[in-house]
Amino acid sequence: MSDSTRVAFVSGAAQGIGLTIALRLADDGLDVAVNDIPSKKTELAELVSQIEAKGRRAIAVPGDVSVEEDVRNAIDKVVADLGGLDVMVANAGILVVTPVVDIDVEEWDRVFAVNVRGVMLQYKYAAKQMIKQGRGGRILGASSVGGKRGWGGLSAYCSSKFAVRGLTQSLSLELATHNITVNSYAPGIVATQMAQDLGAGLTRVGMSAEIPVGKPESVASIVSYLAKPEASFITGQAISPNGGSVFD
Ligand code: NAD
Repeated sequence: MSDSTRVAFVSGAAQGIGLTIALRLADDGLDVAVNDIPSKKTELAELVSQIEAKGRRAIAVPGDVSVEEDVRNAIDKVVADLGGLDVMVANAGILVVTPVVDIDVEEWDRVFAVNVRGVMLQYKYAAKQMIKQGRGGRILGASSVGGKRGWGGLSAYCSSKFAVRGLTQSLSLELATHNITVNSYAPGIVATQMAQDLGAGLTRVGMSAEIPVGKPESVASIVSYLAKPEASFITGQAISPNGGSVFD
């Protein structure tokens, strides 16, 4: 990997875990491109200002990660404006709480479009760019504790997060000879809007009382490490900042 300033892309960065990861990578000395859906342009602009205040370059690349053209255009803009791409953090994700007997195909497909197709597209265009650059890279995607065990009511979400692990393992082998590592992070419950949306559902999905709720910073510090050049021997893994929610 080059000694010049590295460039990161973080999706779902308008709030929560993605926002915290973007700020952490800026603290680590990277320039950062931040993505979220177009309706969150104001939040992205505020985040760009916060990153610039840390002395790093930042751009907003709004778009829907489930749309191939949006992802391709976003990566092209990152390369054009910031000079390359070294760290991909495919963080954007959505959650629905619906039992299998009630779920409809549209809802199921939307979860898979964002959580699986979206991660695949971000992996694809990041990998193409990193291979072209020839200076290695770090690719990361959001799985979940729900990608390590199922919960009642979360079938679409858990299935999609298991899929992220399979995708991550496969791509890690495809990219191994390019010094590009591919890992997922699989947090337990973290205090964000998504956890609030789950709300009273926490009991229903069976998360027991002794498991602490994590902070976004606990996830960002894992991502920070996996994004570093020194993390070169960790690939294909799903790393679990989860407070003991599941044991690997
Ligand atoms: P959040 O809901 O607070 O934030 C997610 C962000 O992603 C939002 O800003 C949203 O607008 C954005 N987003 C949604 N769909 C998008 C799309 N199609 N294109 C671009 N952006 C999109 O969620 P969070 O808690 O910060 O979670 C971040 C990631 O971590 C998600 O993938 C989530 O599944 C995963 N995760 C979260 C928890 C948790 O307890 N919070 C636990 C395990 C895994």
